[in-house]
Amino acid sequence: MSSIKFDLRSDTVTKPTIEMRKAMAEAEVGDDVYAEDPTVNRLQSMIAELFGKESALFVPTGVMGNQIAIAIHTKRSDEIIVESESHIFHYETAAPAIIAGVQMYCIPSVKGELASSSISEAIRPGDYYFPKTSLICIEQTHNRHGGTVLSLSSIEEVSGFAQSKQIPLHCDGARIWNACAETGTAPHEYAHYLDTLSVCLSKGLGAPAGSVFIGTKDQVEYARHWRKLLGGGMRQSGILAAAGIHALQFHREHLRDDHEKARIFAEQIFSRTSCTLANSGGTVDTNILIIDCGIDTDPYLLRNECSKRGLEISSGRGQCLRAVFHRDITMQEVKEAAMIFIQSFDSIMKENR
Ligand SMILES: *Cc1c(COP(=O)(O)O)cnc(C)c1O
Repeated sequence: MSSIKFDLRSDTVTKPTIEMRKAMAEAEVGDDVYAEDPTVNRLQSMIAELFGKESALFVPTGVMGNQIAIAIHTKRSDEIIVESESHIFHYETAAPAIIAGVQMYCIPSVKGELASSSISEAIRPGDYYFPKTSLICIEQTHNRHGGTVLSLSSIEEVSGFAQSKQIPLHCDGARIWNACAETGTAPHEYAHYLDTLSVCLSKGLGAPAGSVFIGTKDQVEYARHWRKLLGGGMRQSGILAAAGIHALQFHREHLRDDHEKARIFAEQIFSRTSCTLANSGGTVDTNILIIDCGIDTDPYLLRNECSKRGLEISSGRGQCLRAVFHRDITMQEVKEAAMIFIQSFDSIMKENR
């Protein structure tokens, strides 16, 4: 196996910078199970304020943030509405069935924007033999649709509808930072329409670990109970929170560059191969590209050929590959990575002839 030159499998592959490590080393810490870690408390206050909510809770991962949200909003044997391509449905090991004890009702959409008409059809009537619909989840940006941005108006619509049915709305905002960077919408403008959110610090922002659950004071107190139950009560976690604070202060402002990188890579590879863009809606909204290799190209062969030449990308559904852009690849390296992709494509086409 040759060494990795360019890693576009995910925006989670970024490594903490020297400055970030310095902030971590110097962090003032305490025992966070007693809520006495000043750095964790500072991160939680910063996030609560950014999102215009009462309170926030530092959790180890995005999955834990989402599962805590599901647990606090539901009772066993309830049902939650999620989008068909959502992270909660595909990549969280059926956790809602195990942790909260609820089942998922999946609704398909374009770009991840749930239509209130389809939610309306999915909400269960009150008869005792139905599960009770007790939560609606959306995802911003939407991962499997290709980093798509849900418009503020679509979130407003879902929110208004959810409120009229008295069903809470949770947002898996693992990459909400990218949506904010791209549209100029402030975190609190999205959060205004949401009951709870979970946001990641370990993706485009570049922290080594950590996510944050956001909600009311009561919701966060209940979340603290669930975090402990799930084994997520950490001690001097200010060392990790310091990385998150550093990322918010110094990395957040550069997220738009990652979107530019995705567009440059897309421009290069789609003009020089027969691959096509498979992002839902046909646009590159943020830092994720879903690449449709077409029926004549074996995506596994192409991925392996790229890998041999030092470019790592991941597999997607069916004929698709996925590339994610992040702060640890420069604009110049993106162009080199695109050349490797094009050469790999040409090479496997030649072999197939
Ligand atoms: C990565 C991701 C998560 C989960 O984050 P982890 O920290 O890996 O548990 C949740 N939702 C979406 C959309 C993600 O991309």
